[in-house]
Amino acid sequence: MDPNEIIRKKRDQEELTKDEIEFFINEYVKGNIPDYQASSLLMAIYLNGMSQSEISFLTNVMAHSGKIVDLSSIDGIKVDKHSTGGIGDKVTLVLMPLIAACGVPVAKMSGRGLGYTQGTIDKLESIEGFKTDISTYDFIQNVKSIGISIMCQQEDIAKADKLLYALRDVTSTVESIPLIASSIMSKKIAAGSDKILLEVACGSGAFMDTIDRARLLAQTMVNIGKQYGKETMAIITNMDQPLGRYCGNGLEIMETINTLNGNGEEDVISVCTVLGAYMLKLAGVSDNLGNNMRLIKSKIDNKEGLIKFRELLLRQGGNTYCIDHPEVLNKAKFKIPVKAPNAGYVHEINSKNIGHAIVKMGGGRLKKEDPIDHSVGIEVLKKIGDFVEPDDIILNIYCNDERLGNEQVRFLQDSYIVAQEKVDKIEEVLDIIE
Ligand code: URA
Repeated sequence: MDPNEIIRKKRDQEELTKDEIEFFINEYVKGNIPDYQASSLLMAIYLNGMSQSEISFLTNVMAHSGKIVDLSSIDGIKVDKHSTGGIGDKVTLVLMPLIAACGVPVAKMSGRGLGYTQGTIDKLESIEGFKTDISTYDFIQNVKSIGISIMCQQEDIAKADKLLYALRDVTSTVESIPLIASSIMSKKIAAGSDKILLEVACGSGAFMDTIDRARLLAQTMVNIGKQYGKETMAIITNMDQPLGRYCGNGLEIMETINTLNGNGEEDVISVCTVLGAYMLKLAGVSDNLGNNMRLIKSKIDNKEGLIKFRELLLRQGGNTYCIDHPEVLNKAKFKIPVKAPNAGYVHEINSKNIGHAIVKMGGGRLKKEDPIDHSVGIEVLKKIGDFVEPDDIILNIYCNDERLGNEQVRFLQDSYIVAQEKVDKIEEVLDIIE
Protein backbone atom coordinates (compact mmCIF):
# COMPACT_ATOMS: atom_id res chain seq x y z
CA MET A 1 0.00 0.00 0.00
CA ASP A 2 1.11 3.54 -0.68
CA PRO A 3 0.88 6.03 2.25
CA ASN A 4 0.73 8.89 -0.26
CA GLU A 5 -2.40 7.41 -1.87
CA ILE A 6 -4.04 7.05 1.59
CA ILE A 7 -3.32 10.73 2.31
CA ARG A 8 -4.71 11.69 -1.10
CA LYS A 9 -7.93 9.77 -0.47
CA LYS A 10 -8.54 11.54 2.84
CA ARG A 11 -7.61 14.88 1.29
CA ASP A 12 -10.23 14.27 -1.43
CA GLN A 13 -12.87 13.32 1.16
CA GLU A 14 -12.96 9.64 0.25
CA GLU A 15 -13.59 7.05 2.95
CA LEU A 16 -10.58 5.00 4.04
CA THR A 17 -10.85 1.23 4.40
CA LYS A 18 -10.01 -0.78 7.52
CA ASP A 19 -6.90 -2.17 5.76
CA GLU A 20 -5.68 1.30 4.77
CA ILE A 21 -6.08 2.67 8.30
CA GLU A 22 -4.41 -0.38 9.85
CA PHE A 23 -1.55 -0.26 7.37
CA PHE A 24 -0.90 3.45 7.91
CA ILE A 25 -0.97 3.34 11.72
CA ASN A 26 1.00 0.11 12.08
CA GLU A 27 3.70 1.24 9.66
CA TYR A 28 3.89 4.64 11.38
CA VAL A 29 4.38 3.01 14.79
CA LYS A 30 7.14 0.78 13.29
CA GLY A 31 8.88 3.90 12.00
CA ASN A 32 8.32 3.05 8.33
CA ILE A 33 6.11 6.07 7.68
CA PRO A 34 7.75 9.41 8.49
CA ASP A 35 6.24 12.17 10.66
CA TYR A 36 5.65 14.42 7.64
CA GLN A 37 3.30 11.90 6.03
CA ALA A 38 1.55 11.18 9.33
CA SER A 39 1.14 14.94 9.87
CA SER A 40 -0.46 15.30 6.44
CA LEU A 41 -2.93 12.54 7.15
CA LEU A 42 -3.76 14.11 10.54
CA MET A 43 -4.42 17.46 8.90
CA ALA A 44 -6.59 15.83 6.22
CA ILE A 45 -8.59 14.11 9.00
CA TYR A 46 -8.80 17.39 10.90
CA LEU A 47 -10.19 19.18 7.85
CA ASN A 48 -12.42 16.47 6.37
CA GLY A 49 -13.43 14.41 9.40
CA MET A 50 -14.03 10.66 9.46
CA SER A 51 -17.05 8.38 9.28
CA GLN A 52 -18.02 6.40 12.38
CA SER A 53 -16.56 3.22 10.80
CA GLU A 54 -13.28 4.96 10.01
CA ILE A 55 -13.12 6.20 13.63
CA SER A 56 -13.77 2.68 14.93
CA PHE A 57 -11.04 1.17 12.73
CA LEU A 58 -8.63 3.89 13.83
CA THR A 59 -9.47 3.35 17.52
CA ASN A 60 -9.06 -0.40 17.18
CA VAL A 61 -5.62 -0.28 15.58
CA MET A 62 -4.47 2.36 18.11
CA ALA A 63 -5.76 0.31 21.06
CA HIS A 64 -3.86 -2.75 19.82
CA SER A 65 -0.63 -0.87 19.10
CA GLY A 66 0.49 -1.67 22.66
CA LYS A 67 -0.41 -3.83 25.62
CA ILE A 68 -4.03 -4.58 26.59
CA VAL A 69 -4.34 -4.70 30.39
CA ASP A 70 -6.08 -7.77 31.75
CA LEU A 71 -8.20 -6.91 34.81
CA SER A 72 -10.16 -10.18 34.73
CA SER A 73 -8.57 -11.44 37.95
CA ILE A 74 -10.29 -8.62 39.88
CA ASP A 75 -13.80 -9.59 41.02
CA GLY A 76 -16.74 -7.39 40.09
CA ILE A 77 -17.57 -5.05 37.23
CA LYS A 78 -14.72 -2.64 36.56
CA VAL A 79 -15.96 0.75 35.41
CA ASP A 80 -13.42 3.22 34.06
CA LYS A 81 -14.02 6.94 34.26
CA HIS A 82 -12.40 9.44 31.95
CA SER A 83 -12.59 13.19 31.76
CA THR A 84 -11.72 15.10 28.61
CA GLY A 85 -10.17 17.62 30.99
CA GLY A 86 -11.03 20.97 32.42
CA ILE A 87 -9.83 23.66 34.81
CA GLY A 88 -10.03 22.72 38.49
CA ASP A 89 -11.52 19.35 37.54
CA LYS A 90 -10.77 17.20 40.57
CA VAL A 91 -13.77 14.90 40.04
CA THR A 92 -11.67 11.75 39.54
CA LEU A 93 -9.77 12.40 42.77
CA VAL A 94 -12.92 12.89 44.84
CA LEU A 95 -15.08 10.31 43.14
CA MET A 96 -12.76 7.30 42.93
CA PRO A 97 -12.41 6.82 46.73
CA LEU A 98 -16.19 7.31 47.10
CA ILE A 99 -16.87 4.63 44.49
CA ALA A 100 -14.37 2.28 46.15
CA ALA A 101 -16.08 2.97 49.49
CA CYS A 102 -19.32 1.73 47.86
CA GLY A 103 -17.60 -1.62 47.25
CA VAL A 104 -17.00 -1.17 43.50
CA PRO A 105 -13.42 -1.95 42.38
CA VAL A 106 -11.51 1.10 41.12
CA ALA A 107 -8.56 0.32 38.81
CA LYS A 108 -7.79 3.73 37.37
CA MET A 109 -5.07 4.64 34.92
CA SER A 110 -4.63 8.37 34.54
CA GLY A 111 -2.50 10.78 32.60
CA ARG A 112 -0.37 13.81 33.28
CA GLY A 113 -1.37 17.33 32.41
CA LEU A 114 -0.40 18.83 29.09
CA GLY A 115 -1.09 22.38 28.02
CA TYR A 116 -3.59 24.36 30.06
CA THR A 117 -5.22 21.42 31.90
CA GLN A 118 -3.69 19.60 34.83
CA GLY A 119 -3.70 15.80 35.08
CA THR A 120 -4.71 13.51 37.94
CA ILE A 121 -1.23 11.96 38.12
CA ASP A 122 0.52 15.31 38.58
CA LYS A 123 -1.99 16.21 41.26
CA LEU A 124 -1.40 12.97 43.16
CA GLU A 125 2.35 13.50 42.92
CA SER A 126 1.93 16.66 45.05
CA ILE A 127 1.58 14.22 47.94
CA GLU A 128 4.98 13.47 49.42
CA GLY A 129 6.10 9.95 48.51
CA PHE A 130 3.00 8.95 46.53
CA LYS A 131 4.02 6.55 43.76
CA THR A 132 2.03 6.55 40.54
CA ASP A 133 4.61 4.72 38.45
CA ILE A 134 3.81 1.24 39.71
CA SER A 135 3.76 -2.10 37.89
CA THR A 136 0.53 -3.56 36.52
CA TYR A 137 1.00 -6.41 38.98
CA ASP A 138 1.06 -4.04 41.98
CA PHE A 139 -1.83 -2.07 40.49
CA ILE A 140 -4.00 -5.18 40.33
CA GLN A 141 -2.87 -6.37 43.77
CA ASN A 142 -3.81 -3.00 45.28
CA VAL A 143 -7.30 -3.21 43.85
CA LYS A 144 -7.70 -6.77 45.13
CA SER A 145 -6.50 -5.78 48.56
CA ILE A 146 -8.01 -2.33 49.26
CA GLY A 147 -10.45 -1.88 46.34
CA ILE A 148 -8.63 1.02 44.70
CA SER A 149 -5.44 1.91 42.85
CA ILE A 150 -4.50 4.82 40.62
CA MET A 151 -1.49 4.51 38.36
CA CYS A 152 0.24 6.52 35.70
CA GLN A 153 -0.59 5.36 32.22
CA GLN A 154 2.21 3.06 31.11
CA GLU A 155 4.44 3.70 28.16
CA ASP A 156 3.37 0.54 26.36
CA ILE A 157 -0.39 1.29 26.38
CA ALA A 158 -1.77 2.53 23.02
CA LYS A 159 1.68 3.37 21.65
CA ALA A 160 0.20 4.84 18.47
CA ASP A 161 -1.71 7.41 20.53
CA LYS A 162 1.45 8.52 22.28
CA LEU A 163 3.18 9.16 18.94
CA LEU A 164 0.17 10.70 17.26
CA TYR A 165 -0.73 12.92 20.22
CA ALA A 166 2.79 14.38 20.26
CA LEU A 167 2.49 15.07 16.54
CA ARG A 168 -1.00 16.60 16.87
CA ASP A 169 0.28 18.85 19.61
CA VAL A 170 2.75 20.51 17.20
CA THR A 171 0.66 20.44 14.01
CA SER A 172 -2.52 22.20 15.23
CA THR A 173 -4.58 19.04 14.91
CA VAL A 174 -5.60 18.45 18.54
CA GLU A 175 -9.17 19.80 18.38
CA SER A 176 -10.56 17.21 15.98
CA ILE A 177 -13.47 15.06 17.13
CA PRO A 178 -12.37 11.84 15.31
CA LEU A 179 -8.82 12.28 16.61
CA ILE A 180 -9.85 13.06 20.21
CA ALA A 181 -12.42 10.24 20.25
CA SER A 182 -9.98 7.64 18.92
CA SER A 183 -7.21 8.88 21.21
CA ILE A 184 -9.33 8.62 24.36
CA MET A 185 -11.18 5.44 23.48
CA SER A 186 -8.04 3.56 22.34
CA LYS A 187 -6.57 4.13 25.82
CA LYS A 188 -9.82 3.20 27.56
CA ILE A 189 -10.09 -0.04 25.58
CA ALA A 190 -6.45 -0.90 26.26
CA ALA A 191 -6.93 -0.17 30.00
CA GLY A 192 -9.09 -3.28 30.24
CA SER A 193 -12.21 -2.17 32.15
CA ASP A 194 -15.64 -3.70 31.49
CA LYS A 195 -17.59 -0.44 31.17
CA ILE A 196 -16.74 3.20 30.59
CA LEU A 197 -18.11 6.47 31.96
CA LEU A 198 -16.96 9.56 30.08
CA GLU A 199 -17.07 13.10 31.37
CA VAL A 200 -17.03 15.49 28.43
CA ALA A 201 -16.23 18.99 29.60
CA CYS A 202 -17.82 21.79 27.60
CA GLY A 203 -17.17 25.52 27.74
CA SER A 204 -14.48 28.16 27.94
CA GLY A 205 -12.13 25.91 29.91
CA ALA A 206 -12.42 22.83 27.70
CA PHE A 207 -11.47 21.45 24.26
CA MET A 208 -15.16 21.44 23.30
CA ASP A 209 -16.44 24.99 23.54
CA THR A 210 -20.01 24.46 22.30
CA ILE A 211 -22.67 22.03 23.45
CA ASP A 212 -23.12 20.74 19.88
CA ARG A 213 -19.46 19.79 19.58
CA ALA A 214 -19.48 18.28 23.07
CA ARG A 215 -22.54 16.17 22.17
CA LEU A 216 -20.93 15.03 18.92
CA LEU A 217 -17.72 14.00 20.71
CA ALA A 218 -19.71 12.26 23.45
CA GLN A 219 -21.90 10.37 20.98
CA THR A 220 -18.89 9.37 18.86
CA MET A 221 -17.11 7.90 21.89
CA VAL A 222 -20.24 6.17 23.20
CA ASN A 223 -20.71 4.56 19.76
CA ILE A 224 -17.11 3.31 19.75
CA GLY A 225 -17.51 1.82 23.23
CA LYS A 226 -20.72 0.05 22.24
CA GLN A 227 -19.14 -1.34 19.07
CA TYR A 228 -16.59 -2.89 21.41
CA GLY A 229 -19.29 -4.49 23.51
CA LYS A 230 -18.40 -2.21 26.44
CA GLU A 231 -21.37 -0.36 27.87
CA THR A 232 -20.35 3.29 27.62
CA MET A 233 -22.06 6.54 28.53
CA ALA A 234 -21.07 10.17 28.63
CA ILE A 235 -21.99 13.06 30.88
CA ILE A 236 -21.45 16.55 29.53
CA THR A 237 -20.35 18.92 32.27
CA ASN A 238 -20.10 22.69 32.23
CA MET A 239 -16.59 24.07 32.05
CA ASP A 240 -17.52 27.72 31.52
CA GLN A 241 -15.91 28.33 34.89
CA PRO A 242 -13.40 26.36 36.95
CA LEU A 243 -14.84 23.55 39.02
CA GLY A 244 -14.65 24.09 42.76
CA ARG A 245 -12.49 26.64 44.51
CA TYR A 246 -8.90 25.74 43.69
CA CYS A 247 -6.98 25.08 40.47
CA GLY A 248 -3.45 23.71 40.49
CA ASN A 249 -1.94 20.40 41.53
CA GLY A 250 -1.34 20.55 45.30
CA LEU A 251 -4.25 22.92 45.89
CA GLU A 252 -6.63 20.51 44.17
CA ILE A 253 -5.47 17.68 46.43
CA MET A 254 -6.12 19.97 49.40
CA GLU A 255 -9.63 20.61 48.05
CA THR A 256 -10.14 16.88 47.43
CA ILE A 257 -9.36 16.12 51.06
CA ASN A 258 -11.61 18.94 52.26
CA THR A 259 -14.41 17.65 50.03
CA LEU A 260 -14.06 14.07 51.28
CA ASN A 261 -14.07 15.53 54.79
CA GLY A 262 -17.48 17.12 54.23
CA ASN A 263 -16.30 20.64 53.39
CA GLY A 264 -16.65 20.55 49.61
CA GLU A 265 -17.92 23.19 47.21
CA GLU A 266 -21.45 22.63 45.94
CA ASP A 267 -20.49 22.30 42.26
CA VAL A 268 -17.83 19.63 42.94
CA ILE A 269 -20.27 17.62 45.05
CA SER A 270 -23.02 17.98 42.49
CA VAL A 271 -20.85 16.71 39.58
CA CYS A 272 -19.42 13.91 41.73
CA THR A 273 -22.83 12.68 42.88
CA VAL A 274 -24.29 12.66 39.36
CA LEU A 275 -21.26 10.94 37.83
CA GLY A 276 -21.03 8.60 40.80
CA ALA A 277 -24.70 7.62 40.50
CA TYR A 278 -24.17 6.60 36.86
CA MET A 279 -20.93 4.78 37.70
CA LEU A 280 -22.76 2.77 40.35
CA LYS A 281 -25.49 2.03 37.81
CA LEU A 282 -22.91 0.79 35.29
CA ALA A 283 -21.26 -1.27 38.04
CA GLY A 284 -24.57 -3.02 38.71
CA VAL A 285 -25.09 -1.59 42.21
CA SER A 286 -28.57 -0.21 41.40
CA ASP A 287 -30.49 1.35 38.53
CA ASN A 288 -32.08 3.80 40.96
CA LEU A 289 -30.08 6.97 40.38
CA GLY A 290 -31.62 8.79 43.36
CA ASN A 291 -30.54 6.02 45.72
CA ASN A 292 -27.11 5.94 44.12
CA MET A 293 -26.70 9.68 44.62
CA ARG A 294 -27.66 9.32 48.28
CA LEU A 295 -25.19 6.44 48.65
CA ILE A 296 -22.36 8.57 47.24
CA LYS A 297 -23.26 11.47 49.57
CA SER A 298 -23.41 9.11 52.55
CA LYS A 299 -19.79 8.10 51.85
CA ILE A 300 -18.82 11.74 52.28
CA ASP A 301 -20.91 12.18 55.43
CA ASN A 302 -19.61 9.05 57.14
CA LYS A 303 -16.03 9.77 55.94
CA GLU A 304 -15.65 6.34 54.32
CA GLY A 305 -14.43 8.05 51.12
CA LEU A 306 -11.72 9.82 53.10
CA ILE A 307 -10.77 6.54 54.80
CA LYS A 308 -10.36 4.98 51.32
CA PHE A 309 -8.23 7.91 50.20
CA ARG A 310 -5.99 7.39 53.25
CA GLU A 311 -5.72 3.67 52.43
CA LEU A 312 -4.78 4.56 48.85
CA LEU A 313 -2.01 6.86 50.08
CA LEU A 314 -0.70 4.29 52.54
CA ARG A 315 -0.70 1.58 49.88
CA GLN A 316 1.14 3.69 47.28
CA GLY A 317 3.75 5.22 49.60
CA GLY A 318 2.11 8.62 50.17
CA ASN A 319 2.59 10.53 53.41
CA THR A 320 -0.86 10.64 55.07
CA TYR A 321 -0.04 13.71 57.19
CA CYS A 322 -1.82 15.86 54.58
CA ILE A 323 -5.11 14.08 55.25
CA ASP A 324 -5.29 15.51 58.76
CA HIS A 325 -3.50 18.73 57.78
CA PRO A 326 -4.54 19.50 54.17
CA GLU A 327 -3.21 23.06 54.52
CA VAL A 328 0.34 21.66 54.13
CA LEU A 329 -0.47 21.28 50.45
CA ASN A 330 -0.86 25.04 50.16
CA LYS A 331 2.80 25.91 50.35
CA ALA A 332 3.52 28.51 47.69
CA LYS A 333 5.60 31.44 48.97
CA PHE A 334 3.44 34.24 47.60
CA LYS A 335 -0.31 34.91 47.58
CA ILE A 336 -1.26 37.70 45.18
CA PRO A 337 -4.87 38.96 45.04
CA VAL A 338 -6.65 39.81 41.76
CA LYS A 339 -9.44 42.36 42.11
CA ALA A 340 -12.67 42.66 40.15
CA PRO A 341 -12.31 44.73 36.95
CA ASN A 342 -15.49 46.72 37.76
CA ALA A 343 -18.74 46.49 39.72
CA GLY A 344 -21.56 44.22 38.56
CA TYR A 345 -22.35 40.57 38.02
CA VAL A 346 -19.76 38.09 36.76
CA HIS A 347 -21.00 37.11 33.28
CA GLU A 348 -18.08 35.19 31.84
CA ILE A 349 -14.80 33.72 32.99
CA ASN A 350 -12.20 32.73 30.43
CA SER A 351 -11.24 29.57 32.27
CA LYS A 352 -8.54 28.59 29.79
CA ASN A 353 -6.66 31.72 30.86
CA ILE A 354 -6.62 30.44 34.44
CA GLY A 355 -5.02 27.23 33.15
CA HIS A 356 -2.55 29.18 31.01
CA ALA A 357 -1.58 31.40 33.97
CA ILE A 358 -0.83 28.30 36.07
CA VAL A 359 1.36 26.91 33.27
CA LYS A 360 3.21 30.25 32.94
CA MET A 361 3.96 30.22 36.67
CA GLY A 362 5.44 26.71 36.41
CA GLY A 363 2.41 24.70 37.58
CA GLY A 364 1.85 22.97 34.24
CA ARG A 365 3.93 21.83 31.33
CA LEU A 366 4.26 22.81 27.71
CA LYS A 367 6.39 19.79 26.83
CA LYS A 368 5.90 16.26 28.16
CA GLU A 369 9.27 16.24 29.89
CA ASP A 370 8.95 19.65 31.62
CA PRO A 371 9.23 19.59 35.43
CA ILE A 372 6.36 21.21 37.33
CA ASP A 373 5.93 23.17 40.53
CA HIS A 374 3.10 21.40 42.35
CA SER A 375 2.44 24.28 44.75
CA VAL A 376 1.50 26.85 42.08
CA GLY A 377 -2.20 27.51 41.59
CA ILE A 378 -5.18 29.84 41.68
CA GLU A 379 -8.05 30.19 44.14
CA VAL A 380 -11.36 31.16 42.57
CA LEU A 381 -13.43 33.34 44.89
CA LYS A 382 -16.04 34.71 42.48
CA LYS A 383 -18.02 32.71 39.94
CA ILE A 384 -20.60 33.38 37.22
CA GLY A 385 -23.68 35.10 38.69
CA ASP A 386 -21.83 36.55 41.72
CA PHE A 387 -22.08 40.30 42.36
CA VAL A 388 -18.72 42.05 42.77
CA GLU A 389 -17.50 45.51 43.81
CA PRO A 390 -14.25 46.86 42.27
CA ASP A 391 -12.28 46.17 45.44
CA ASP A 392 -13.50 42.61 45.81
CA ILE A 393 -10.91 39.90 45.35
CA ILE A 394 -12.01 37.56 42.57
CA LEU A 395 -8.94 35.31 42.52
CA ASN A 396 -5.84 34.63 44.59
CA ILE A 397 -2.66 33.64 42.81
CA TYR A 398 -0.35 31.21 44.64
CA CYS A 399 3.21 31.22 43.27
CA ASN A 400 6.88 30.95 44.14
CA ASP A 401 8.13 33.56 41.69
CA GLU A 402 6.59 36.89 42.65
CA ARG A 403 7.44 38.56 39.35
CA LEU A 404 5.77 35.79 37.33
CA GLY A 405 2.77 35.96 39.66
CA ASN A 406 2.44 39.74 39.28
CA GLU A 407 2.60 39.34 35.50
CA GLN A 408 -0.61 37.27 35.61
CA VAL A 409 -2.70 39.81 37.56
CA ARG A 410 -3.87 41.92 34.61
CA PHE A 411 -4.23 38.88 32.34
CA LEU A 412 -6.48 37.20 34.91
CA GLN A 413 -8.47 40.35 35.67
CA ASP A 414 -9.17 40.65 31.94
CA SER A 415 -10.41 37.06 31.95
CA TYR A 416 -13.50 38.14 33.89
CA ILE A 417 -16.40 39.89 32.15
CA VAL A 418 -18.43 41.78 34.71
CA ALA A 419 -21.64 43.51 33.53
CA GLN A 420 -24.64 45.26 35.06
CA GLU A 421 -27.30 42.80 34.02
CA LYS A 422 -27.96 40.03 36.55
CA VAL A 423 -27.18 36.50 35.33
CA ASP A 424 -28.09 33.11 36.74
CA LYS A 425 -25.60 30.70 38.23
CA ILE A 426 -24.66 27.96 35.76
CA GLU A 427 -25.87 24.36 35.62
CA GLU A 428 -23.08 21.87 36.21
CA VAL A 429 -24.46 18.91 34.24
CA LEU A 430 -25.54 19.82 30.70
CA ASP A 431 -26.50 16.50 29.12
CA ILE A 432 -26.27 12.75 29.44
CA ILE A 433 -25.62 10.54 26.40
CA GLU A 434 -26.34 6.84 26.83
N1 URA B 1 -7.36 13.67 25.85
C1 URA B 1 -6.80 12.62 25.18
O1 URA B 1 -6.44 11.61 25.76
N2 URA B 1 -6.66 12.75 23.84
C2 URA B 1 -7.05 13.83 23.16
O2 URA B 1 -6.91 13.86 21.97
C3 URA B 1 -7.62 14.91 23.88
C4 URA B 1 -7.77 14.79 25.23
